[in-house]
Amino acid sequence: FAGIRGNAVLLGQRFVGEVLHKGSVAVDATAGNGYDTLFLANSVGECGRVYAFDIQQSALDITARRLKQFGLEKNVTLIHDGHEKMDLYIVPPVDAFIFNLGYLPGGDHDKITRPSTTVKALQIALDMLNPGGRISIVVYTGHLGAGEESRTVEEMAAKLDPRIFGVLKVTFINRSASAPFLIFIERVKKENENLAP
Ligand code: SAM
Repeated sequence: FAGIRGNAVLLGQRFVGEVLHKGSVAVDATAGNGYDTLFLANSVGECGRVYAFDIQQSALDITARRLKQFGLEKNVTLIHDGHEKMDLYIVPPVDAFIFNLGYLPGGDHDKITRPSTTVKALQIALDMLNPGGRISIVVYTGHLGAGEESRTVEEMAAKLDPRIFGVLKVTFINRSASAPFLIFIERVKKENENLAP
């Protein structure tokens, strides 16, 4: 992960990017300004598919414009709905999910991800994840409501069965306590299930 310094978003993209190839299926659970969606669309190519969710139409519009700029709009299905309803739109398995929590930078700070819906979406994502597949969660800690969400997400991740999921927490230990952190989840490949203690 050389060259990433303190950039949580790039770090998350690198983590999931390692398991994506042309033809993969990926989900951006929080499209926002479309940077993660663009990264995923580029990674899965024309024969792959990206599903990108946001509760704000304005975020999806920004994302659509960004994709078009790079000629990648055909690879992506934009969905104006909460990620907690992902299972209504996607047929599993999925190779990678990106959750970039919090609010839309430059947008309404009240339209934030919430603990109950985030956890519900993560449960669905875990169920849909291909063996060898990965989930990156960028967790922000500075805004109102962030404390409860970060605790809830971390507690849920910490309880995942180590025989099925590898789980890492990545923190920037030389930054302030309000810096974001990441949770990385990988579903073990089928042949490795039951090996972990
Ligand atoms: N991934 C984005 C990017 O690359 O620019 C940044 C995402 S931004 C930090 C978080 C986004 O989550 C906001 O646009 C917000 O509207 C969206 N959001 C909040 N609750 C949501 C939910 N239940 N389902 C889907 N998106 C949600």
